[in-house]
Amino acid sequence: MIPVAEARAALLHLVSPTGIETVPLAEAAGRVLAQSVIARRDQPPFDASAMDGYAVNAAEVEQHAMFKVIGEAAAGHGYPGRVGAGQAVRIFTGAPVPEGASYVVIQEDVSRTGDLITLVDAPDGATHIRPLGSDFSVGQEVSAPHLLRAADVALLAAMNIAEVPVRRRPVVALMSTGDELVMPGDTPGPDQIIVSNTFGLKAMLDSHGAEVRMLPIARDTKSSLRQAFDFAGDADLVVTIGGASVGDHDLVAAVAQELGLERSFYKVAMRPGKPLMAGRFRHGAMVGLPGNPVSAMVCGRLFVVPMVRALLGLPSDPDAMSRAPLAIALPENGPRAHYMRGFWSNGALQPFDSQDSSLLSVLAQAEALILRPPHAPAANPGDTVEYLTL
Ligand code: AMP
Ligand code: MG
Repeated sequence: MIPVAEARAALLHLVSPTGIETVPLAEAAGRVLAQSVIARRDQPPFDASAMDGYAVNAAEVEQHAMFKVIGEAAAGHGYPGRVGAGQAVRIFTGAPVPEGASYVVIQEDVSRTGDLITLVDAPDGATHIRPLGSDFSVGQEVSAPHLLRAADVALLAAMNIAEVPVRRRPVVALMSTGDELVMPGDTPGPDQIIVSNTFGLKAMLDSHGAEVRMLPIARDTKSSLRQAFDFAGDADLVVTIGGASVGDHDLVAAVAQELGLERSFYKVAMRPGKPLMAGRFRHGAMVGLPGNPVSAMVCGRLFVVPMVRALLGLPSDPDAMSRAPLAIALPENGPRAHYMRGFWSNGALQPFDSQDSSLLSVLAQAEALILRPPHAPAANPGDTVEYLTL
């Protein structure tokens, strides 16, 4: 048996980053920036008013001071002249602060009669001016690799970057295997169940930036498996689910090898999980996950997500665990890392009573995977445990 980290390292060896493509900014969210980009502008591009009010010379600002209003500056329409002694320009948020002005008196602090304003309140000290370049300056870098979120897209837009170099979405083909499986919405026979793993894993991998293709369910025959593999086409990663142990109906390894898989087996010291099958396959890689629904999802999270991240050129960091107190006592752990489904209870993590690897209802309620490392000693309430948020 090898530790989880070692198995993950072996799987990561099978993949390398996809190519780079350029997408319009409107399609960049959720993509991974592949090359660093730099701002083409200063933001704001001029000293800008942060408030609605009056632009004046800061040296003249004091309570009861009076100014003559000589013009107006609005967003998109600056005041072309200069503000002299005793003068003010009516100004609005986002407008350039005119030459000669260095302070914006907010309109609430002013009384106005015709062209004359008087400062009725003592100035609060803030100039209400956003200096040129105070958000970012020309040449400022957004560095790659980086998963672009909504705020990043807004920043790139403000930097005037209309097209973005991103990693091609890795194509992941998911194949469930088993005579007992039918699709959701279909009518199962008396001995059948509804396929769940392909859907759960698709949701998981989609959210990490993969382009997931669901292959037709493969039956437990070599010909059906061959046909399903054919549909995988040129996927970067083929993930099979089930059919990978040593049962009479577990034909995935045999067929995959026939089709060119250089197979490795990793007996991973973890629960839930089983031996993982993996190897180079066609021009990409293949991973065989266990069929039990919770095992498939936990192995997806621990092994396949890092592979997708590696395909996207991102550091595969899911080793980064958080820490929290344990809510209840736990016995000594055996030789396998146990990823226990748990929930929050008064700021502490509590494992569910049942940890059976077929229980999707428990997984769906779980908020965290609590890690019990191999041979962890018995733990008491309040002891610190590591966990992954689900
Ligand atoms: P296997 O690894 O094929 O022996 O499957 C182990 C268990 O997981 C069996 O109870 C299967 O019915 C179940 N199983 C396998 N694949 C799936 C799937 N895609 N969705 C739901 N359950 C599955
Ligand atoms: Mg099966």
